[in-house]
Amino acid sequence: MAILVAGGAGYIGSHMVKDLVEHGQDVVVADNLSTGHRDAINPKAKFYEGDIRDRKFLDKIFDNENIEAVVHFAAFSIVPESMSKPLKYFDNNTGGMITLLEAMRDHNIKYIVFSSTAATYGVPEHMPIKETDPQNPINPYGLSKLMMEKMMHWADKAYGIKFVALRYFNVAGAAPDGTIGEDHGPETHLVPIILQVAQGKRDELSIFGDDYNTPDGTNVRDYVHVMDLADAHILAIKYLEAGNESNAFNLGSSTGFSNKQMLEAAREVTGEPIPAKIAPRRPGDPDSLVAASDKARNVLGWDPKYDDVHDIIATAWKWHSTHPKGYDDRD
Ligand code: UDP
Repeated sequence: MAILVAGGAGYIGSHMVKDLVEHGQDVVVADNLSTGHRDAINPKAKFYEGDIRDRKFLDKIFDNENIEAVVHFAAFSIVPESMSKPLKYFDNNTGGMITLLEAMRDHNIKYIVFSSTAATYGVPEHMPIKETDPQNPINPYGLSKLMMEKMMHWADKAYGIKFVALRYFNVAGAAPDGTIGEDHGPETHLVPIILQVAQGKRDELSIFGDDYNTPDGTNVRDYVHVMDLADAHILAIKYLEAGNESNAFNLGSSTGFSNKQMLEAAREVTGEPIPAKIAPRRPGDPDSLVAASDKARNVLGWDPKYDDVHDIIATAWKWHSTHPKGYDDRD
């Protein structure tokens, strides 16, 4: 039996595939390579190139392979892009989930672990955020993922497809062996951008806003290491295969770091000055997002290994400093 990783060529998906392979699991990857990289896919995984909105493509995989569960990362995830191109997000993310669930129903695949997001909570009423808190997204990305969660809920009721939605907070870091890492084109995420400045690939960091309602005025986020995140997915598959009910879990460290604190930590890790300036706010950014993730720890038995943001940045720095051009020469 194999696990299908949809979006297994992307940043988080490729770390998931590596983690599964290292646990001795057979893995099939489906990815359209729109944002992912062929070289990020672990060579022990079987790769199908195509789009999850393409029903024939999914049928081919489910007909050819003995898939026991799907882990679904095949979605767009850039908050500011979703503000300017909302329909792109509803098409690929929300629409893609319809086709995937229909194919799962018809091929009798009963388990799905889904990349959801803290962005489904919108502007939280209190911190840290609990899974039972209201979900009122303030950007199309968050809404596209909330709709996907709700679709899975009803697909469970109607067809018995059991799901775990993992609501990620801010994912960072890279495989500690330095073989794979984060390479988006264009890059929008804070940690890789800071490290590109440290590398001299950018002149300076723009910190988007310093007048938020936070201790130093810059946004506060909760950073989780990508390999810890991958481990949580493996636990979620086991949870479903043990016959448990569908569920949702936050994945965060329960500790918030401001954008200024992240910059300072990166200066310490890299030893580089990393010039920075304050720039206007970026649309769609809530003040703070910090997870209560005791549910994942208690119910799934999740035990994240990286509890210091310096260690997370250090693994990312290992990848960036050894792969200055990412996976190819595009930069
Ligand atoms: N950010 C920033 N400068 C950048 C990129 C990001 O100040 O060049 C901020 C962004 O406004 C947010 C935080 O860093 O407050 C994390 O943003 P990111 O895009 O990494 O993740 P998101 O929270 O959107 O998932």
